[in-house]
Amino acid sequence: MKHKITLIPGDGIGPEVTIAAKKCIEATGVEIEWEEALAGSDAMEKFGELLPKETLESVKKNGVALKGPIVTPIGEGFRSVNVAIRQALDLYACVRPAKSYAGVKSFYKDIDLIIVRENTEDLYAGIEFQAGLPATKKIIAEIEEETKKKIRPDSGISIKPISEYATKRIVKFAFEYALKLKRKKITVVTKANIMKFTDGLFLKAAREVAKEYEGKINFEEALVDNMAMQLVQKPHNFDLLVLPNLYGDILSDLCAGLVGGLGVAPGANIGEKTAVFEAVHGSAPKYKGMDKVNPTAMILSGVLMLRYIKEDDAAQRLENAVKKVIADGKFVTYDLRPSPGDPGAVGTQEMADAIIEVIRKQ
Ligand code: NAD
Repeated sequence: MKHKITLIPGDGIGPEVTIAAKKCIEATGVEIEWEEALAGSDAMEKFGELLPKETLESVKKNGVALKGPIVTPIGEGFRSVNVAIRQALDLYACVRPAKSYAGVKSFYKDIDLIIVRENTEDLYAGIEFQAGLPATKKIIAEIEEETKKKIRPDSGISIKPISEYATKRIVKFAFEYALKLKRKKITVVTKANIMKFTDGLFLKAAREVAKEYEGKINFEEALVDNMAMQLVQKPHNFDLLVLPNLYGDILSDLCAGLVGGLGVAPGANIGEKTAVFEAVHGSAPKYKGMDKVNPTAMILSGVLMLRYIKEDDAAQRLENAVKKVIADGKFVTYDLRPSPGDPGAVGTQEMADAIIEVIRKQ
């Protein structure tokens, strides 16, 4: 069956890594008709908007997209296009596996963790009030009146909504995903001891969902600060973590660090009918156009995508080829060489070509 998939190259290093991933995916022989759609700075130049309607429509229609990273300026300018895509398409589950591959430099071996992060709520909801504006002053006055607690008048305010609906939906997703992949344990991670009405709600709702799965899979609870320490000290004690949006974002970078960094960390954003696959890393603007960065994270996002469209055999062949090229250590980018300045490092496309060569010989 021929699949129709939206390809969003993104900006910064996005186009380079998506081209690399696209050609590796095509080398598996899976028939794909790509529909290219713009988002980010290219879309701004061409359509005068960062996230054109046409792009969202394309993803909705095709149901699957492979997406390169897109820049988000810090503290000013536009809100994140990446977050806007997840919210517009209700891609409520962010799945980020962190898996060790022989040949990747890391302090740890044999890590095999999955982060399942709620993708639509929490401090990522984008409900913010800028310091000094009349609406912010009004909100501060109302909160002070209601809580009898003081807020400094020059404060900015970010709202953290967490609902029972979205929590149960993500925790159910985590259980189903864990069962499908035959995982052994789910850990729900919050700061429920401090934020009783948001994280506390998340934990309570997670416990209720867990009851439905009693006897099928182990379930445990952890506080996010303690979890950060435990992941560094004994990551092998954990299997699949389910978390609210912000903690999920932070701990998935920590887990990427456990397995050798952002260059090898893939991800997926999954909704009821639509899924967008993208690397955990960003657009690394300083490397733009240099054919230097590691395409692995994007290619492994392609592996997740192939599994999602039920092309398991192709997914496995592609993952095996990536594993082999990394383990051989010859045709790999700078970040996978013994030192970053190593003259033996190859470029993004040459590493992808080496992966394709392995697929062809399989
Ligand atoms: P980044 O992930 O873009 O880069 C940080 C550093 O990680 C790079 O300087 C580089 O040393 C390393 N790195 C990243 N990808 C790599 C790769 N493929 N191979 C080798 N090394 C790699 O993070 P940042 O600099 O904080 O963010 C840059 C921009 O990307 C920001 O505007 C940010 O908002 C955006 N961003 C987008 C996404 C997304 O599109 N989903 C995700 C994260 C960040």
